[in-house]
Amino acid sequence: MLHWLTSLVGADRAGQKAGSEKLPCFHCGDLVRRRRAVHAQFDGAERLLCCHGCAAILKTVEQMGMVQQYREQKRQAGVADDK
Ligand SMILES: [Zn+2]
Repeated sequence: MLHWLTSLVGADRAGQKAGSEKLPCFHCGDLVRRRRAVHAQFDGAERLLCCHGCAAILKTVEQMGMVQQYREQKRQAGVADDK
């Protein structure tokens, strides 16, 4: 069940540049311009996402009560968390 999450959170994060107006998607790490970013509530905070697809995934994870598993997957995938 979590395989699809693993592949998504493990997506390429290279190319991230400090100081640019592009920010990493909370879910997949893809860079997105701030004004084009999608905002969604997840795990008690507003998250910035690259697209509505990622927003839908977070919403689904939360609806399924899999937030803890999701956070663990992100940690294992080496995706920087937001804390
Ligand atoms: Zn994304």
